[in-house]
Amino acid sequence: MTVAKMSQKCPYCKETINAGATRCKHCHADLSAGSKKKASALANLDNFRTGFLCGILFTLILTVLGYFHFFAGE
Ligand SMILES: [Zn+2]
Repeated sequence: MTVAKMSQKCPYCKETINAGATRCKHCHADLSAGSKKKASALANLDNFRTGFLCGILFTLILTVLGYFHFFAGE
């Protein structure tokens, strides 16, 4: 019986844990790939939305300032 096949190393604390474990028994880190993937995808969507809204707001402000400048110059 090989111990190496029955265990894996925690990517966070490098301690040996059972293979297929979803939670590290040493540092209690979540090791389930599914939930981690979902969380990062949601974060990416949030970043995209924030950047998109900031871009629209910035363009709007520049447009308003541009009009003000144009009419003030007349
Ligand atoms: Zn750990």
